[in-house]
Amino acid sequence: MGINSEKYKEIINEIGEDVKLIAVSKTQTTEAIADLYQAGQRDFGENYVQELIEKYQTLPKDIRWHFIGHLQSNKVKNIAAFVSLVQGVDSLKLLQEINKQAAKNERIINCLLQIYIATEETKFGLNEDELDDIFGNAQLKDLKNIKICGFMGMASFSDDLQKVRNEFRYLKTLYNSYSQLSITNCNLSILSMGMSADYKIAIEEGSNMVRIGSLIFGERNPLPGVR
Ligand SMILES: *Cc1c(COP(=O)(O)O)cnc(C)c1O
Repeated sequence: MGINSEKYKEIINEIGEDVKLIAVSKTQTTEAIADLYQAGQRDFGENYVQELIEKYQTLPKDIRWHFIGHLQSNKVKNIAAFVSLVQGVDSLKLLQEINKQAAKNERIINCLLQIYIATEETKFGLNEDELDDIFGNAQLKDLKNIKICGFMGMASFSDDLQKVRNEFRYLKTLYNSYSQLSITNCNLSILSMGMSADYKIAIEEGSNMVRIGSLIFGERNPLPGVR
Protein backbone atom coordinates (compact mmCIF):
# COMPACT_ATOMS: atom_id res chain seq x y z
CA MET A 1 0.00 0.00 0.00
CA GLY A 2 1.60 3.27 -1.11
CA ILE A 3 1.07 6.78 0.09
CA ASN A 4 -1.35 9.09 -1.67
CA SER A 5 1.19 11.67 -2.81
CA GLU A 6 -1.35 13.70 -4.78
CA LYS A 7 -3.46 14.07 -1.68
CA TYR A 8 -0.35 14.92 0.34
CA LYS A 9 0.58 17.75 -2.01
CA GLU A 10 -3.00 18.96 -2.04
CA ILE A 11 -3.09 19.11 1.77
CA ILE A 12 0.28 20.88 1.96
CA ASN A 13 -0.95 23.54 -0.46
CA GLU A 14 -4.29 23.83 1.19
CA ILE A 15 -3.14 24.31 4.78
CA GLY A 16 -0.50 26.90 3.87
CA GLU A 17 2.67 27.86 5.68
CA ASP A 18 1.10 28.87 8.96
CA VAL A 19 -0.26 25.42 9.75
CA LYS A 20 2.08 22.53 10.43
CA LEU A 21 1.22 19.07 9.17
CA ILE A 22 2.00 16.07 11.33
CA ALA A 23 1.77 12.91 9.25
CA VAL A 24 0.28 10.29 11.53
CA SER A 25 2.14 7.12 10.62
CA LYS A 26 0.96 4.74 13.33
CA THR A 27 0.63 1.18 11.97
CA GLN A 28 2.12 2.27 8.63
CA THR A 29 5.24 0.59 7.25
CA THR A 30 8.68 2.18 7.31
CA GLU A 31 8.59 2.03 3.49
CA ALA A 32 5.48 4.19 3.39
CA ILE A 33 7.05 6.64 5.84
CA ALA A 34 10.23 6.73 3.75
CA ASP A 35 8.14 7.56 0.67
CA LEU A 36 6.57 10.52 2.43
CA TYR A 37 9.98 11.58 3.71
CA GLN A 38 11.16 11.60 0.09
CA ALA A 39 8.23 13.87 -0.71
CA GLY A 40 9.55 16.30 1.88
CA GLN A 41 7.65 15.48 5.06
CA ARG A 42 9.70 15.62 8.28
CA ASP A 43 7.14 15.59 11.11
CA PHE A 44 5.57 12.25 11.91
CA GLY A 45 3.21 11.20 14.69
CA GLU A 46 3.07 7.85 16.47
CA ASN A 47 1.16 6.65 19.48
CA TYR A 48 2.70 3.32 20.40
CA VAL A 49 6.04 3.51 22.16
CA GLN A 50 7.54 0.27 20.87
CA GLU A 51 6.53 1.02 17.31
CA LEU A 52 7.93 4.54 17.58
CA ILE A 53 11.29 3.26 18.82
CA GLU A 54 11.60 0.76 15.98
CA LYS A 55 10.78 3.39 13.38
CA TYR A 56 13.12 5.91 14.95
CA GLN A 57 15.95 3.40 14.74
CA THR A 58 15.29 2.53 11.12
CA LEU A 59 14.42 5.85 9.52
CA PRO A 60 16.45 9.04 8.84
CA LYS A 61 17.55 10.90 11.96
CA ASP A 62 16.28 14.30 10.87
CA ILE A 63 12.68 13.15 11.26
CA ARG A 64 10.87 14.95 14.07
CA TRP A 65 8.86 12.35 15.96
CA HIS A 66 5.70 13.42 17.74
CA PHE A 67 4.16 11.23 20.38
CA ILE A 68 0.46 11.88 19.85
CA GLY A 69 -1.35 9.44 22.08
CA HIS A 70 -1.69 8.62 25.71
CA LEU A 71 1.81 8.22 27.12
CA GLN A 72 2.28 6.01 30.15
CA SER A 73 4.73 7.36 32.74
CA ASN A 74 6.79 4.18 32.83
CA LYS A 75 7.46 4.41 29.08
CA VAL A 76 8.72 7.99 28.98
CA LYS A 77 12.32 6.87 29.51
CA ASN A 78 12.22 4.87 26.28
CA ILE A 79 11.57 7.86 24.04
CA ALA A 80 13.05 10.74 26.06
CA ALA A 81 16.32 10.77 24.14
CA PHE A 82 14.77 11.65 20.80
CA VAL A 83 11.07 12.61 20.93
CA SER A 84 10.44 16.02 19.41
CA LEU A 85 7.03 16.93 20.86
CA VAL A 86 4.90 15.02 23.33
CA GLN A 87 1.32 15.82 22.36
CA GLY A 88 -1.13 14.59 24.86
CA VAL A 89 0.19 15.27 28.36
CA ASP A 90 -2.72 15.06 30.73
CA SER A 91 -1.25 15.21 34.25
CA LEU A 92 1.36 16.95 36.35
CA LYS A 93 2.72 13.55 37.25
CA LEU A 94 3.47 12.84 33.61
CA LEU A 95 5.10 16.26 33.21
CA GLN A 96 7.32 15.50 36.18
CA GLU A 97 8.38 12.18 34.71
CA ILE A 98 9.08 13.74 31.30
CA ASN A 99 11.12 16.41 33.08
CA LYS A 100 13.13 13.79 34.94
CA GLN A 101 13.90 11.74 31.85
CA ALA A 102 14.65 14.86 29.79
CA ALA A 103 17.16 15.94 32.45
CA LYS A 104 18.88 12.55 32.26
CA ASN A 105 19.24 13.09 28.53
CA GLU A 106 20.37 16.68 29.03
CA ARG A 107 17.63 18.10 26.90
CA ILE A 108 14.38 20.04 27.09
CA ILE A 109 11.32 18.19 25.88
CA ASN A 110 8.49 20.17 24.33
CA CYS A 111 5.01 19.19 25.45
CA LEU A 112 1.40 19.98 24.62
CA LEU A 113 -1.32 19.61 27.22
CA GLN A 114 -4.21 17.53 25.97
CA ILE A 115 -7.54 19.15 26.66
CA TYR A 116 -10.74 17.19 26.81
CA ILE A 117 -13.17 18.74 24.33
CA ALA A 118 -15.27 15.82 23.06
CA THR A 119 -18.36 14.34 24.57
CA GLU A 120 -17.06 10.79 24.24
CA GLU A 121 -15.81 9.17 27.39
CA THR A 122 -12.94 7.38 25.70
CA LYS A 123 -10.92 10.48 24.93
CA PHE A 124 -8.16 11.48 27.31
CA GLY A 125 -7.53 15.01 28.39
CA LEU A 126 -7.70 17.69 31.02
CA ASN A 127 -10.80 19.67 31.89
CA GLU A 128 -10.57 23.36 32.78
CA ASP A 129 -10.22 22.75 36.50
CA GLU A 130 -7.41 20.29 36.01
CA LEU A 131 -5.71 22.71 33.62
CA ASP A 132 -5.94 25.46 36.25
CA ASP A 133 -4.45 23.10 38.81
CA ILE A 134 -1.44 22.44 36.57
CA PHE A 135 -0.78 26.08 35.72
CA GLY A 136 -1.42 27.09 39.31
CA ASN A 137 0.98 24.53 40.74
CA ALA A 138 4.02 26.18 42.31
CA GLN A 139 6.27 23.30 41.23
CA LEU A 140 5.57 23.73 37.54
CA LYS A 141 8.18 26.45 37.02
CA ASP A 142 10.84 24.17 38.53
CA LEU A 143 10.46 21.60 35.76
CA LYS A 144 13.38 23.07 33.84
CA ASN A 145 13.65 20.27 31.32
CA ILE A 146 10.18 20.58 29.88
CA LYS A 147 8.48 23.34 27.97
CA ILE A 148 4.72 23.60 27.61
CA CYS A 149 4.24 24.85 24.05
CA GLY A 150 0.49 24.66 23.64
CA PHE A 151 -2.64 22.55 23.65
CA MET A 152 -3.89 19.51 21.79
CA GLY A 153 -7.46 18.32 21.46
CA MET A 154 -9.57 15.76 19.67
CA ALA A 155 -13.14 16.57 18.69
CA SER A 156 -15.99 14.11 18.92
CA PHE A 157 -16.14 11.48 16.22
CA SER A 158 -19.41 12.79 14.80
CA ASP A 159 -21.25 13.69 11.62
CA ASP A 160 -22.56 16.73 13.39
CA LEU A 161 -20.07 19.24 12.02
CA GLN A 162 -21.45 22.11 14.07
CA LYS A 163 -20.74 20.14 17.21
CA VAL A 164 -17.20 19.43 16.03
CA ARG A 165 -16.75 23.11 15.20
CA ASN A 166 -18.00 24.19 18.62
CA GLU A 167 -15.54 21.86 20.32
CA PHE A 168 -12.63 23.33 18.36
CA ARG A 169 -13.90 26.84 19.02
CA TYR A 170 -13.98 26.14 22.73
CA LEU A 171 -10.37 24.92 22.66
CA LYS A 172 -9.24 28.00 20.74
CA THR A 173 -10.91 30.24 23.32
CA LEU A 174 -9.18 28.37 26.12
CA TYR A 175 -5.87 28.61 24.29
CA ASN A 176 -6.27 32.37 23.87
CA SER A 177 -7.13 32.83 27.51
CA TYR A 178 -3.89 31.14 28.61
CA SER A 179 -1.62 32.68 26.02
CA GLN A 180 -0.52 35.46 28.38
CA LEU A 181 0.88 33.10 31.02
CA SER A 182 4.07 34.29 32.64
CA ILE A 183 5.62 31.03 33.72
CA THR A 184 9.17 30.58 32.41
CA ASN A 185 8.72 27.12 30.94
CA CYS A 186 5.26 27.78 29.48
CA ASN A 187 4.93 29.65 26.25
CA LEU A 188 1.87 28.74 24.23
CA SER A 189 2.34 28.90 20.47
CA ILE A 190 0.93 25.59 19.23
CA LEU A 191 -2.72 24.66 18.95
CA SER A 192 -2.85 21.07 17.67
CA MET A 193 -6.33 20.17 16.50
CA GLY A 194 -7.77 18.51 13.42
CA MET A 195 -7.43 15.05 11.85
CA SER A 196 -8.35 13.57 8.44
CA ALA A 197 -12.09 14.01 8.94
CA ASP A 198 -12.14 17.46 10.49
CA TYR A 199 -8.89 19.34 9.81
CA LYS A 200 -10.55 21.93 7.57
CA ILE A 201 -12.95 22.92 10.31
CA ALA A 202 -10.10 22.89 12.84
CA ILE A 203 -8.06 25.34 10.75
CA GLU A 204 -11.06 27.61 10.30
CA GLU A 205 -11.33 27.62 14.08
CA GLY A 206 -7.71 28.56 14.64
CA SER A 207 -5.64 25.38 14.59
CA ASN A 208 -1.98 25.77 13.60
CA MET A 209 -1.07 22.08 13.72
CA VAL A 210 -3.04 19.24 12.14
CA ARG A 211 -2.46 15.52 12.62
CA ILE A 212 -3.43 13.63 9.50
CA GLY A 213 -3.07 9.89 8.94
CA SER A 214 -5.52 7.99 6.79
CA LEU A 215 -6.00 10.71 4.16
CA ILE A 216 -2.31 10.48 3.29
CA PHE A 217 -1.46 6.87 4.01
CA GLY A 218 -4.79 5.25 3.25
CA GLU A 219 -6.49 2.93 5.69
CA ARG A 220 -4.39 1.89 8.64
CA ASN A 221 -2.88 -1.58 8.61
CA PRO A 222 -4.87 -3.78 10.92
CA LEU A 223 -2.63 -5.05 13.70
CA PRO A 224 -3.51 -7.22 16.67
CA GLY A 225 -5.01 -5.38 19.60
CA VAL A 226 -7.06 -2.23 19.76
CA ARG A 227 -5.89 0.36 17.27
C1 LIG B 1 -4.70 8.34 14.73
C2 LIG B 1 -4.65 9.73 15.22
C3 LIG B 1 -4.74 10.82 14.33
C4 LIG B 1 -4.94 10.68 12.83
O1 LIG B 1 -6.16 10.13 12.51
P1 LIG B 1 -6.68 10.10 10.97
O2 LIG B 1 -8.15 10.05 11.12
O3 LIG B 1 -6.11 8.87 10.37
O4 LIG B 1 -6.20 11.31 10.30
C5 LIG B 1 -4.63 12.09 14.86
N1 LIG B 1 -4.45 12.30 16.18
C6 LIG B 1 -4.36 11.29 17.05
C7 LIG B 1 -4.17 11.60 18.49
C8 LIG B 1 -4.47 9.97 16.62
O5 LIG B 1 -4.39 8.98 17.49
